[in-house]
Amino acid sequence: MPDRSTDESQARARDGATAPQTPGSPDGPTVSGTRASVTLRVRRQEGQNPRVEWDSFGILRRPGMTVLDALWAVRRDPATTDGRSKPPPAFECGCSSGACGACTMVINNRVRLACRTLVDDVSPKGGPITLAPLAKFPLVRDLVVDRAHAERALCEVRGWVELGDEPPKPAPEAPARQRQLEALGRCIGCAACMEVCPQYGEHSDFLGPAALAQVTRLNETAVGQWQKTDRLALVMAPGGIADCGKAQNCVEVCPVGVPVVDGLQRLAGATTREMLLGWLLGR
Ligand code: SF4
Repeated sequence: MPDRSTDESQARARDGATAPQTPGSPDGPTVSGTRASVTLRVRRQEGQNPRVEWDSFGILRRPGMTVLDALWAVRRDPATTDGRSKPPPAFECGCSSGACGACTMVINNRVRLACRTLVDDVSPKGGPITLAPLAKFPLVRDLVVDRAHAERALCEVRGWVELGDEPPKPAPEAPARQRQLEALGRCIGCAACMEVCPQYGEHSDFLGPAALAQVTRLNETAVGQWQKTDRLALVMAPGGIADCGKAQNCVEVCPVGVPVVDGLQRLAGATTREMLLGWLLGR
């Protein structure tokens, strides 16, 4: 896990209400070392403080329990397996249903949504579940990172529809094309694809797969074509589509099945056509 060195930390942790502990309830007493328990091993770090600790919390597992449920159970009783009372790990969550991307984290060395990851899937034999924050974004605290850079990338490619005085009339899309565009539009901005992209990070200006795939969606939508040329010029600059290394990790980890690679390939084709057109027209 690389050290974090940035001053961009903004408090984004959402401290949810602490539910009262019900003695004897599944979320009540912490346990460990039994088949009915699961241990969460959580990476702890405060912002820029270089000190890193790992705390293990034991909780009772329930059928259908997600990693997010398990984190809430720890929050109710944040005692470690060696009996120390610790502040509960900070984590983010919004919708708890895979629609907001806030709970994206590294679970057993793979980037996933905590709300969509079943404890039984990542700990089928009762082994510990390791939780760490996304490593490519500035750490705020524990499992909370600042993903403002990912959001800025979408702004940098003009990821919106801006209507002028004479906006183009939306033409009906063919069903197959509609399905392609809808699939690209599923993006929830979780940043998982950026976490696993070798080209994305502090070492480069690469805008990242999510923002670039959205350029394809906007440029191929009738109303989005209004700014197509501007967007293509932006993604043909350094940090744009030419910086994609085609590792294709992005599509592997996307939790909502966005066809990211398809979007990037179509964008590469569009920029090539734009470049040829520029040469032919002497632009
Ligand atoms: S493309 Fe998929 S992995 Fe990337 S930000 Fe969007 S939803 Fe997350």
